[in-house]
Amino acid sequence: MPSKIDESKCLKCGLCIKNCPNEAIKGTNLTKVSTSDVYDRVWIDPDICTDCGTCTSMEYWCPAEAISAEGEAPKPALAEGEKKYSRYIYNYDGRDGFKFTEGIPFNMITRIDKDVLPGSDFYMIHWVLPHDEPFLEIGHPPHIHKDPELLFHIGSDPNNPQDLGAEIELYLGAEMERHVINTSCVIYIPPNFIHAPWKPLKTWRPWIFIEVNQGPKHTEKGYHQLLSPEAIAGESHLAHFEDEGY
Ligand code: SF4
Ligand code: SF4
Repeated sequence: MPSKIDESKCLKCGLCIKNCPNEAIKGTNLTKVSTSDVYDRVWIDPDICTDCGTCTSMEYWCPAEAISAEGEAPKPALAEGEKKYSRYIYNYDGRDGFKFTEGIPFNMITRIDKDVLPGSDFYMIHWVLPHDEPFLEIGHPPHIHKDPELLFHIGSDPNNPQDLGAEIELYLGAEMERHVINTSCVIYIPPNFIHAPWKPLKTWRPWIFIEVNQGPKHTEKGYHQLLSPEAIAGESHLAHFEDEGY
């Protein structure tokens, strides 16, 4: 049975016209307003539709959820007071069980991945609070991730947001090239690129660290062979890093 469009929900945007692989969806009288397409009417020609299921294959294939497969069960009604999209707003509740090592001056703001919000990539955001001395022996040791990563270092001085208010030591590549970061910046880490130790040397103003993993889970493979035996012996690093995917 062909798919059908609920005209009471349809926004007549024509996205489905472009994306139906069989050109079964038709529209009349297109008007363009800036980036918006507006048709008078959009409908599915039942003689052309092959019932391939493309248009009902994912939640927002039609942004207005106006297309359904013939005979598909209606979505359950919302309970009284329930909001449909509350599930997209996540206040960190520590449900993933992640904990920083006791005593380090990090304060979690939020941390999500696909297990917390299905469809989401991995993000971790925390404050780094003031400290006078390095509080990690070597910091997070050399490692790689399967997916590309972005490391945002964001200062909190409203008069000079480029000033990080901290000094961070970071080693890049198998050569262990040393960098000292003291300005707000984002660092791109390609897949399988060796990076770290990452070590805050000192922080005189709280700053925000955002780790964006462009994949659904945090993966990690260590390269302790790049460290001296003395450094490994004195290692104090962050707890609970997953090692999925390698
Ligand atoms: S994509 Fe959805 S809202 Fe847009 S024209 Fe098609 S059925 Fe209507
Ligand atoms: S079921 Fe397939 S052919 Fe029919 S309207 Fe949807 S995408 Fe087009």
